[in-house]
Amino acid sequence: MGYVLKDCDYAISWINDELRIIKNATVVIEDGLIAGIGEGAYSRGFENIDCKDHILMPGLVNAHTHTPMSLFRGFFDDAELPLWLSKIWNVERELNHNIVSAASELSIIEMIMSGTTAFTDQYFYPQATAEVVLKYGLRAALGPPFMDTMRDPKQVENELRNFASEYASSQLIRPIINVHSVYTVGRDTLLRIKELSDELNLPIHIHASETRDEVYEIKSKHGVFPVEYLNALGLISSNLQLVHLGWVTNWELGIIAKAGAKVIHAPTSNMKLATAGHFPMRELMDMGVIIGIGTDGPASNNSLDMFREMKMAVLLQRHSYWDVGIKAHHVFRAATINGYTILGLRGGCLDRGCVADVVLLDSKNPQLQPLRTDNLLSNIVYSVDGSSVDLVLVNGRLIYEKSRDYYALRERAVRLGKEINEFIGRFLP
Ligand SMILES: [Zn+2]
Repeated sequence: MGYVLKDCDYAISWINDELRIIKNATVVIEDGLIAGIGEGAYSRGFENIDCKDHILMPGLVNAHTHTPMSLFRGFFDDAELPLWLSKIWNVERELNHNIVSAASELSIIEMIMSGTTAFTDQYFYPQATAEVVLKYGLRAALGPPFMDTMRDPKQVENELRNFASEYASSQLIRPIINVHSVYTVGRDTLLRIKELSDELNLPIHIHASETRDEVYEIKSKHGVFPVEYLNALGLISSNLQLVHLGWVTNWELGIIAKAGAKVIHAPTSNMKLATAGHFPMRELMDMGVIIGIGTDGPASNNSLDMFREMKMAVLLQRHSYWDVGIKAHHVFRAATINGYTILGLRGGCLDRGCVADVVLLDSKNPQLQPLRTDNLLSNIVYSVDGSSVDLVLVNGRLIYEKSRDYYALRERAVRLGKEINEFIGRFLP
């Protein structure tokens, strides 16, 4: 079973770990994987997709989000952080499977329509999100979050074990150990999480060094900075994913690089929540650390459009460094091939055997004009948004085709929005 994406105006992707742009490209997909490029790889009996007037690119990986938090889109948005958080926690005590499912579905629709093919999610009721993921056919890394201030860690551990065994052989869902942060999870729980990660061989995904308050709290309680603290407990390894790192010291970067831990930049969230600080992207890149990009949740962004997030990442980095050292290709790498590496997959590339998660953009979109080989990447990172996505394939399956699905998904999103409003109404001022 396969597809031939025939005569794309351009294909832009990673081949042999180099960014390549090919004009008039034909790409063959077989059994969920990239089989080859060019007419030579043409396979008889495969379904043809006319790729004329389109640009083929890798699907985008949203390496950190909280999909059910579309519940909180526009909710006390302009309040100071402590008030905003206390309002959100009030609602979170009342959550149930159904409302998490509805909110997650709304986010997943938005992500598919804007070219995201995989995401890492941290939220309660991951089972509800997993069911929606399988219904829509994209990829997700999911798992119940450890957060001692909200939930009994023993209960979370049981939930994690069940979740991990249920999805152990899933092609689309990858179980992970979600940990909220070092300030909401106690020392004993962190030590237990390390044992669980080793025993179940699952990655750990944690917010770290996001705010100054967090750093001060950990330093005054434990005498060390957050990354040092995690390292002392044995958690820094190639199986660890650290999100934010806005307030991190040089020597902590050395610890991360030495262990081969992964890091995720969420620029819009950092700006919107006014957490300030600086994610040291260039230093991390120079040290060879794998960097992904995430939107964070719809409460703190509020969009899930990864095209916008790539642009934000470049802009924030340039604003912080006062130079143009961070280029379009750095964030394109972070949002594609690196995102897949963080998920533990060979993807974001057009080599034979890469997972067939690709997006077709409408090359006639005004945002892409004037279009040439030399400005294609710039146009993708700095000009287009998710609205130019026409077609999305994940695992070699066609999961979104604008001409077929656009109106139905819009209707579905409106219905989900109404359901969310019914739930959230009683918490509004
Ligand atoms: Zn987050």
